[in-house]
Parts: sequence; C-alpha cells; structure tokens
Amino acid sequence: MKSYRKELWFEVPARRAFINITPQVIEALRESGIREGLCLVNAMHISASVFINDDESGLHGDLERWLEKLAPEKPHSQYAHNVGEDNADAHLKRTIMGREVVVAVTAGKLDFGPWERIFYGEFDGRRRKRVLVKIVGE
Ligand code: ZN
Repeated sequence: MKSYRKELWFEVPARRAFINITPQVIEALRESGIREGLCLVNAMHISASVFINDDESGLHGDLERWLEKLAPEKPHSQYAHNVGEDNADAHLKRTIMGREVVVAVTAGKLDFGPWERIFYGEFDGRRRKRVLVKIVGE
C-alpha cells in the first residue's frame, strides 16, 4: 500500500471565507500516483472546516447567513470562551461544518457525485493555517 501526505497552506485576508480547494486536492492525488484508495482532507485548526458541497455563490451566501444565525460572531461577550480571544463563534461554526472529508479514489480520480466540490471553510482568518491531505491506496 502506498501513502502520500501533503499540507496545503492558506492565509485568508478576511475573518470568514469559503475556498474551493478541489484543484489542489486533485494535484496532490496526481503527485501521489495512487489510482485506487481513499483521500482524506482535514482542517488542522479548530476554527476552520473542510466540507463538500456545491460551488455556487448563492449557496455560499446562504451558508454564511445560516451560520451567523446559529453562532453569531458578535457580541463577543456572549461566549464563555471569549476570555482573551474572540473566536468562540468560529469554533462553533467549525463544529457544524465539520473537520474533514473522505473521497474515494477510483481509476486515479476523485470519485465525486454530481456537483461535489471540496471546500476550505475559514471562520477565523487573517493568519496562516493548514489543511492536511492524506491519500492511501495503490
Ligand atoms: Zn478559541
């Protein structure tokens, strides 16, 4: 069995953003040379997510508004976690949106359903953060 590991780095200039990272994951898969197996993609930070959904701007706006209703950023003082930091909402948003995705690798390709794309969800940006790509198979 082969195994391949790569870190993708991001520095999002805003507090929150959704970034389509599918091209970088496809590039990692190509580098791995693996044709059959599994591809794990996970955020390495507890205030960011990796998830799969549609690359459609209306949906991304809906997600942003939905997350703000569930876990509004402000006022910062509403959260017990916000002692010396202000990112409690980011931890909650990350929990809802998830830590990782696993995609089957078939015939050297990510075996997606229709319209599936992989996104990095940043909820506390303006600093360098990482996503781990781990691919195993043969
Ligand atoms: Zn925190």
